[in-house]
Amino acid sequence: MSRKAAFIHSTELEKYPYPPDCPFNTSRAGQVHRILHTMGLLFGPGISEVAPEPADRISLKKFHTARYLQALKNASNGKFDIEALYMGIGSSDCPVFKGMYEYSALACGASLKGAELILSGAADVAFNPSGGLHHAFPEKAGGFCYMNDVGLACLHLAEAGKKVLYIDIDVHFADGVAYFFYDRKDVMTISFHESPRTLFPGTGFEHEIGEGEGKGYCINVPLPIGTYDSIYMETFRKITLPLISNFNPDVIVFELGADTLAGDPLAHLHLTNNTYVDVINILLGFKKPILMTGGGGYNIENTVRAWALAWTIIAGLDDGHRMDLGMGGIMLQSTDWQGGFRDRELAVSSHQQQTVKPAIEAVIKSIKENVFPLHGL
Ligand SMILES: [Zn+2]
Repeated sequence: MSRKAAFIHSTELEKYPYPPDCPFNTSRAGQVHRILHTMGLLFGPGISEVAPEPADRISLKKFHTARYLQALKNASNGKFDIEALYMGIGSSDCPVFKGMYEYSALACGASLKGAELILSGAADVAFNPSGGLHHAFPEKAGGFCYMNDVGLACLHLAEAGKKVLYIDIDVHFADGVAYFFYDRKDVMTISFHESPRTLFPGTGFEHEIGEGEGKGYCINVPLPIGTYDSIYMETFRKITLPLISNFNPDVIVFELGADTLAGDPLAHLHLTNNTYVDVINILLGFKKPILMTGGGGYNIENTVRAWALAWTIIAGLDDGHRMDLGMGGIMLQSTDWQGGFRDRELAVSSHQQQTVKPAIEAVIKSIKENVFPLHGL
């Protein structure tokens, strides 16, 4: 079936690399673009490539404080002080580098562009692989993120009167987005992530469910080390199908970090990109517009391949036979490549099953007891 699908990227986004010792690699979006372009997957009926504009100060101030934006701008130009450090700028995971303001503003502009394309009806689905900077707070940088493009996109859509579902499957808790909308019921946030007991940012427990009007509209699904495809999908279905059907959003903002994949150097889950296909197909099943973004992903080859695969699914281009043709030489450095963009299936040990299952069952039970009743479920 054909959908109007927009791929949002510009080579401008490749001009501002993070420092070489920082794991966050801004070349991933450009690599995804090149592969898709080479394979003819950015052409065809309904498919468009769209270049973003940087988000302006007025837009950015809807999420971030003026003081913080000024500190970021100064740091980007080489001026930074202790006050900036208090705001996380210049910390070990948010280094200062030339062009950091420009890069972040453009990544935000790309997600805002996606939101606009959806609002105008120009796109049913849009993908900004440079987005997903979900750890940025109004006045604090965190986890390689300086400006929160996904938070801004949700806000923009909500201001247009839309009921927004934000769903995040990056391996890290979407703290910057979840806490921004913590007391609101017009933006539901659902975050699947590795348990805060073993991974940054140390928050995102299942009992953090929102407050005030937003109580029950923040859903956190922390997962134990070693979580594998089949149990992930079983959990995903049990949590999301009733909640999303009941919430009935107008639009979905979907953060697709690829650091949940097995072999990611910063995290400990054991998924393959086949799960990403299943997740996307479930979301498409709700027949709502979807703004999809990138996010984390520190095994660069696996991340690029997962996002290329995600594009083919969301844009309705998935055709296994065609994928296998014409792939030669493009992704051969990738460890788990088995042809096409898909990962091979991974074996699950009995130890993994025995440790993962009870931990996940406890999380599901908690959500069913504490969140579902708030929605009459
Ligand atoms: Zn992450």
